[in-house]
Amino acid sequence: MKIADNHVVSLNYTLTDNDGEVIDQSQDGSFVYLHGANNIISGLEKELTGRAVGDQLQVKVPPAEGYGDRDEALVEEVPRDMFPADQEITPGMMFHAQGPNGEMITVTVLGAGDSTVKIDANHALAGVELNFDVEVMEVREAEQVEIEHGHVHGPGGHDH
Ligand code: ZN
Repeated sequence: MKIADNHVVSLNYTLTDNDGEVIDQSQDGSFVYLHGANNIISGLEKELTGRAVGDQLQVKVPPAEGYGDRDEALVEEVPRDMFPADQEITPGMMFHAQGPNGEMITVTVLGAGDSTVKIDANHALAGVELNFDVEVMEVREAEQVEIEHGHVHGPGGHDH
């Protein structure tokens, strides 16, 4: 069976940056996703289309097809009182915040002063070329309810 839209795919993968540092990898069994439902980044999804169990591939994904390019406008100073008063704010800390469209975003603290905090709301992988080392472990047709929900149910997927 070949990977196509509305199929559930299990992958083993390792993701590295261009320095060979491991950014992420599948753990405790395979990573499972619904193909064709924007569950994974587009640059990887398109390379997996038409592949089958046992296929191994290396995919280099440019930022535009990964987590986007860095946007320096997302680096800004915000008032210190947006953060809990009793919490020490140090560079490298990450906070969840609400983005301009109501979505949850993660911001990284670059520096903290007495009255302001400099934050970076870019995705941590924005501007990073992504090197995927992937093996296709399993492919099956999705259940109708999975297609309706846009995600996988069962092991490795949603449980609800
Ligand atoms: Zn569901």
